[in-house]
Amino acid sequence: MADIIQLLPDSVANQIAAGEVVQRPASAVKELLENAIDAGATNICLSIKDAGKTLIQVVDNGTGMSETDARLSFERHATSKIKVADDLFRLNTKGFRGEALASIAAIAQVELKTKIAQNELGTQLMIEGSEVKLQEVCTCADGTSIAVKNLFFNVPARRNFLKSNHVESKHIIDEFLRVALIHNDIAFSMYNDGNEVYNLKPGSFRQRIVGVFGDKYNTKLVPVAENTDIVTINGFVTKPEFAKKTRGEQYFFVNNRFIKNAYLNHAVQSAFDQLLNKDQFPSYFINMQIDASKIDINIHPTKTEIKFEDERAIYAILRTAIKQALGKNNIAPTLDFEQEKSFDLPLAKYKEEVKAPTIRVNPNFNPFEKEKSGTSNRQIPSNGNAKHWDKLFEDFEKDTQTITAASSMNEAPEQEDTQVFSPDWDKESSTTKTTVLQIHKKFILTQLNQNYFFIDQQRAHERVLYEKFLAHLEQGKGASQQLLFPETIDLSNSEAEVLHEITSDIKNMGFQFEMIGRTSLVVNGVPAEFAQQNIHHVFEQFIEQFNLQQSTFKLQHLEALALAMAKSAAKKSGYSLNEQEMLSLVEQLFACQLPYHLPNGKPIIISLNIDDLNHQFQY
Ligand code: ADP
Ligand code: MG
Repeated sequence: MADIIQLLPDSVANQIAAGEVVQRPASAVKELLENAIDAGATNICLSIKDAGKTLIQVVDNGTGMSETDARLSFERHATSKIKVADDLFRLNTKGFRGEALASIAAIAQVELKTKIAQNELGTQLMIEGSEVKLQEVCTCADGTSIAVKNLFFNVPARRNFLKSNHVESKHIIDEFLRVALIHNDIAFSMYNDGNEVYNLKPGSFRQRIVGVFGDKYNTKLVPVAENTDIVTINGFVTKPEFAKKTRGEQYFFVNNRFIKNAYLNHAVQSAFDQLLNKDQFPSYFINMQIDASKIDINIHPTKTEIKFEDERAIYAILRTAIKQALGKNNIAPTLDFEQEKSFDLPLAKYKEEVKAPTIRVNPNFNPFEKEKSGTSNRQIPSNGNAKHWDKLFEDFEKDTQTITAASSMNEAPEQEDTQVFSPDWDKESSTTKTTVLQIHKKFILTQLNQNYFFIDQQRAHERVLYEKFLAHLEQGKGASQQLLFPETIDLSNSEAEVLHEITSDIKNMGFQFEMIGRTSLVVNGVPAEFAQQNIHHVFEQFIEQFNLQQSTFKLQHLEALALAMAKSAAKKSGYSLNEQEMLSLVEQLFACQLPYHLPNGKPIIISLNIDDLNHQFQY
C-alpha cells in the first residue's frame, strides 16, 4: 500500500488551531489587547462593529514591528516572547504561544499597519484566510493597528454559531474590562458601533475601578494588602452591605493577568463569614504577584486557569488579609431602610442601628394590601376568590373553613405574638379549622385537614407577581404611577446594555423614563407595585436578575423579565406578616396557574400529610 500520511497545508492547520484560540469575537479582542500590552503600549483603543462580527480593531502606540516581523507575526509558532524552553518558567508577557495572529488570520480578513519609532515608514499587510493579499510600505503612526474584519467569513458553521449582538458585545466588554482594570497605568478607550463606551485615563487601581464602575463605587471599596514571601496581595473588596445576589464583579489577577479560581474565590467568600448570607456575593478586585516559576499558566488554552505551587498557603494568606481589611475598616452595617428591604440580610443585622432613610419610605406600606381580597373577617371569602381555594382543597372535604388566630414563631418574638401554637391548632376533628403560622419570618405553615403546607413567603409573592407581570408584558399593558420627584439613575455600561435590550417591554408595562446619554436615565413613573421602592435599587436589581434568569436558568426573554421584576418587587423573607397578609398571600398563590414552583424550578410549597409524618416518626 502506498504511503498515505500527508502534512496538512498551513492554511488548514491554522484553521484547526483557530478553533481553539478564537471561539468568538471576544477571544480575538483578548489576544489583540494582550499583544498591545506586551508591545509596551501606553494608549490602547478598541473599536468594534456589529458586536465584533464585522470589525474588531485595536490601535496601540507600542513598539510596532519591522517589515520582516510584521510578516512573520502571522506564522504559526512565531513569537518574539520565548526563545528557549526555560523561558516558559519566567514568563512576564501575556502571549507566548505565537498562535493568536496566525489563528485570527486563518478565519478573517486582517489589515495590519505597523511602524517602529526609528523608521520613517511603516508596513501595511492584508491577509485573508491565511493568504497574504498585499504587503507594502505605508505612512502610519508609531505602533500597531490591527483590523480584524468578518470573523469566521470562511467558516460559516462557526459564524452561525455566534450569539446575538447583545451577548457577543457583553463578552467583549467582559474581556476588555479584565484587561483594562488591572492595567491601570495604560489609557484604554472602547467604541461600540462608533459610540464611546469607555475612556479610561491612566491612574491608580482604585481610580480605574471607579472609572469603570462609576463614582458610587469609591465609597464601597475596602483596600486589601498583604506582603509575604509567597505572594504579594493588592486590591479591594466591596463592603458587605454592597454584596450582590449574583457573582457580579469578581476579579482575580495573577501577575496582572485575569484568572478564574474557584478555590481562591472560596477564600474570599469565607473571609466574609458571618457578614453575608449564603446567597450573597461580595465584589472583589484582587491582584496577586507570585514568582512566575511558582505558577503554571500553560494548562488552559485560553489561559484563565492557572496552577499554583502553594495554593493552600495562598488561600490562607488571602483569607486572613481580607478579614483584617474588613476588621480594620470597621465594617459595621450602615444600611438604610430600602437596602434592608431589598436584600436578604442575616436576621441579626435587623436589630442593629439603622441609618435614617434617605428616600421616600412609607413604613406602613404593605404590598399585599392592594392584592387583598377585601374582606377583613376570618372567613375564607365566599366571593369569586373562593374558587382559588377550591384548588387547594381539591383533594379534601369541602367543609366551610374558618381560620383560627395566626401565631408567629419568629426569631425575635413580639409581645402578644409569642404563642407558638394557637389553642385551636390541631383540633381538626371538631371544627376543621385552618391555621396560618409564620415560621422564622420566612415560611408560612398552613394546615388543612390532614395535610400540612410549608410555603416560602417570598417565593410565593414572587410567583404571584410573576404571573401578573408576565400577563402585562404579553399584553403590552400596565398602569403607571407618576413619581412625585423624577429620579435620575446612573448605570454601569453593562447594566445600560441590558436596559437597552428590555426598554420597550418595560415601558409598555408602566415604567416611564428617558435616557440621557448612554448610561443615565430619568425615571418619571413606575408600575404601582414599585411605587414605594427605591427606584435605583429596582433598576439595578431587575437588570441583574434578568441577566441571571436568562443565563443561568435559560428562561425566555419575557419570562426572565417578568421573574426579574417579580423578584425585585416581592416582599422579602425576614418580614413579619400578619394573619390577613398570610391568608391573602396563600389565596393568591393558589389562584396562580402553577403555584408549586417558580419558573426557574425553585420550589414554593412543600406539603406533608399525616402519612408522611407517621413515616418520619417511624410509626
Ligand atoms: P504571541 O503573543 O503568543 O507571541 P501572537 O500571534 O499573538 O503570539 O503574536 C506574534 C508576535 O507578533 C508577537 O510575539 C509579537 O512579536 C508580534 N506582535 C503581535 N502584536 C503586536 C503588536 N500589537 N505590537 C507589536 N508586536 C506585535
Ligand atoms: Mg499574543
